[in-house]
Amino acid sequence: MVYPFSAVVGMDDMRLALLLNAVSPAVGGVLVRGEKGTAKSTAVRALAAVLPPVAVVAGCRFGCDPAAPDPDCPDGPHLADSPAPQRPARLVELPVGASEDRLVGSLDIERALTEGVKSFEPGLLAAAHRGVLYVDEVNLLHDHLVDLLLDAAALGRAYVEREGVSVQHAARFLLVGTMNPEEGELRPQLLDRFGLTVEVAAPREPELRAEVVRRRFAADADPAGFSARWDGEETALADRIAEARERLPRVVLGDDALRQVTAVCAAFEVDGLRADIVTARAAIAHAAWSGRETVTEDDVRVAARLALPHRRRRNPFDAPGLDPDTLEQALDDARPEEPDDDPTPPEGDGGGQPEETGKGAGETPPGRDGTGSDADNTEAPPSAGDPVPPRGEADDTDGDTALPVPAPERAAVDPGEAFRARRLEVPGIGEGVAGRRSKARSDRGRVVGSRRPEGAVTRLHLVDTVVAAAPHQRARGRSGPGLRLQKEDLRQATLEGREGNLVLFVVDASGSMGSADRMAAVKGAVLSLLVDAYQRRDKVGLVTFRGAGAELALPPTWSVEAAAARLTGLPTGGRSPVAAGLLRAHETLRVEAVRDPRRRPLLVLVTDGRATGARGVDHLGEARRAAGLLRAAGTAGVVVDCEAGHVRLGLAGDLGAHLGARTLRLDELGAEQLVRTVKDAA
Ligand SMILES: [Zn+2]
Repeated sequence: MVYPFSAVVGMDDMRLALLLNAVSPAVGGVLVRGEKGTAKSTAVRALAAVLPPVAVVAGCRFGCDPAAPDPDCPDGPHLADSPAPQRPARLVELPVGASEDRLVGSLDIERALTEGVKSFEPGLLAAAHRGVLYVDEVNLLHDHLVDLLLDAAALGRAYVEREGVSVQHAARFLLVGTMNPEEGELRPQLLDRFGLTVEVAAPREPELRAEVVRRRFAADADPAGFSARWDGEETALADRIAEARERLPRVVLGDDALRQVTAVCAAFEVDGLRADIVTARAAIAHAAWSGRETVTEDDVRVAARLALPHRRRRNPFDAPGLDPDTLEQALDDARPEEPDDDPTPPEGDGGGQPEETGKGAGETPPGRDGTGSDADNTEAPPSAGDPVPPRGEADDTDGDTALPVPAPERAAVDPGEAFRARRLEVPGIGEGVAGRRSKARSDRGRVVGSRRPEGAVTRLHLVDTVVAAAPHQRARGRSGPGLRLQKEDLRQATLEGREGNLVLFVVDASGSMGSADRMAAVKGAVLSLLVDAYQRRDKVGLVTFRGAGAELALPPTWSVEAAAARLTGLPTGGRSPVAAGLLRAHETLRVEAVRDPRRRPLLVLVTDGRATGARGVDHLGEARRAAGLLRAAGTAGVVVDCEAGHVRLGLAGDLGAHLGARTLRLDELGAEQLVRTVKDAA
């Protein structure tokens, strides 16, 4: 059963954001952020039922509009008088683990080569055309799919090309993503592509919570009856959307309202003009939704609240949200108090202003985001190499500090300055999910060879295919030019790219690690490695040890913010149970290997190597034995030697040898050190 959209309780911002996009798909989609168990997916899935139905060319697998069929439609050309039945608007879900073929469709290269026909199987982009494309856990979507999705969303078309054979078709859809920020953030490029973002949380009021539960029970007990009871509301909502769509082209965005839009965008220091354009479009949609043909200050306020929070965020450690005082101040400053002598609107930072003002914005066809994508093309993507300095107080992020922390023996020191970290990698060649750390066989990267395909050919190695076919030409009866290919000639290219890893930090927080200054430097270094892990699409985990034992401070997660928050708040002092730390790491990796077997771990042990604890125990010996256990399990590792002072014992290096891991000093972790250490290793 699909839960009725009208029956969703609370989550007003989310419902409004979805409805504004339903009225004007040019707003550019919605990203919904929130913890688990808020029923955000239920609400998204309910949307399709209240969208107006679409007329499609009968038999077209690409959803062509009979009024304007796609001239390049692979199922075309369509006759002018083809039957045009109506079907409900679709909501298509893109699973996070989907293959490229599933998303964009598949071109059968084998049939093209051996039978000489173009055969194309449509993917999810075709299915979502003129409907909604929904990605749950969008933050976990493979980078490669993200790129394909963004290209299609920006162009309103999908292109599929394999070895020079190409197919294209229209793909305009409303993009909706949901995510739990605790599981990791979105790439900034993707974040910016969503027109609106909303944060959802379970309602706090007991009465609202009770209503959620009551409706859930009623829906489970009698799904058909529950749906039927909401039929009237659903129809009314669908009618209101249809009316607002019809009104949209007549809505006027006057100069005063536009000035407020640009003032608000300037006040929140957003980059480029995309924010201004999206805010203006959302304000226009809100006016249409509210039954008005003129944009008011209230429309601008609502639009800013939905369109700006994710555009002003500078790095993954910033807190979300929009400061209401700043918003009101900006609206107030731009409000016309008296007739203005100067009729020209203020100019934006770039000396220009959004091209679409007034009615023009409403007339933009859905998904054809000409102005927006032009602006995007000129924007340099954030450099992967740029350091993202984490803020000193990372503990205000999304309640990530909820875990109980033992009473500090010494208060937590703030981390020192972060820097651009060198790439630490797992040796050998893995087969993990694509990322940017260690070498791996993958479906992307450079061609290193070829092999016989196990299933369908996804990347043809043309030269090796021709070479394989060559010796058989006479036997196959070839007499003139032109190669005679058969299926067994086809060779799949073998690619080598990079994978993401699980970087498990094992951090010594004991008293021997030295002064507060020293600990700040250690924290700064680990934070730098965490930022690096975020950029390389790694999972991260954190084990700490001090005093009586070791603690899994953060189980393996996508949330680098959570790791940063735990690390920042980490108290220090007491003894150094190194062995306990290593054993806890060993156990954590053993469990994780079951859960995510293809992701290879990299253990980063941050310590001075001084194992201490209760008397009468050989702590150094135990630490060595624990290290040996990890080595026997084949765990790749790096030891970061934090030993300070004039007299160096080299105990961290000794542990490194037992781990089979390279040992680096704290000051060797920066990227600029890379050249020198490569020389050392040679
Ligand atoms: Zn068609």
